[in-house]
Amino acid sequence: MITTFLSSADFGSNTYLIESTANILIDAGSLTKRLKEKLKKISLDAIFLTHGHFDHIKELSAIKSLQPKTPIYCAEDRDFLLSPSKNGAHFFHVTFPSFSGNFLSLKEEVIKIKGCSIQVYLFPGHTPGGAGFYFSDENAFFLGDTVLGDSVGRTDLYGGSNHQLMESLKKISLLPIKENTLCYFGHGESMLFCDIPDFRQDPKNIVLH
Ligand SMILES: [Zn+2]
Repeated sequence: MITTFLSSADFGSNTYLIESTANILIDAGSLTKRLKEKLKKISLDAIFLTHGHFDHIKELSAIKSLQPKTPIYCAEDRDFLLSPSKNGAHFFHVTFPSFSGNFLSLKEEVIKIKGCSIQVYLFPGHTPGGAGFYFSDENAFFLGDTVLGDSVGRTDLYGGSNHQLMESLKKISLLPIKENTLCYFGHGESMLFCDIPDFRQDPKNIVLH
């Protein structure tokens, strides 16, 4: 089961809870009352961060206080987590409790947690350490802000690279993902993998967020 928790702030980032053989949180931008109640009842096995922008990490400290033993996985954006100028908080005039715990580093690999298999992909571009998580058993693919439905993530913030983003979009279009896989984005509604536009073929679809 996958539940979406939308942050109440203006930025509207999605936080996802996967409940299968393992309980896994994707991103930590939202801690609604419902998610807080849930986290008091279940044991969270892992938190995976799609990238280090503030709107995806701002509740990390609060979530970690509810689940102190839960490991946090992050790719190359670890230095974003402690830096308001890198994670965009300064740019958007946002403050939130900083988090200074440990992180487990992600590379392109398959991670198995309690029988739950997660294929990690690296998608630099929107940030240097963008990551995607494919849960084959759940038929679900989490893409962070690399793809946002029919548009793609902006590259004008710290560490962004349009060239790298285009390479990541090309990579996504060639991945062995089943067409009926549901894709979950950092913002907005989910969409079937087969419905994601081919941004390489049709550049006019690129609307930077
Ligand atoms: Zn972002």
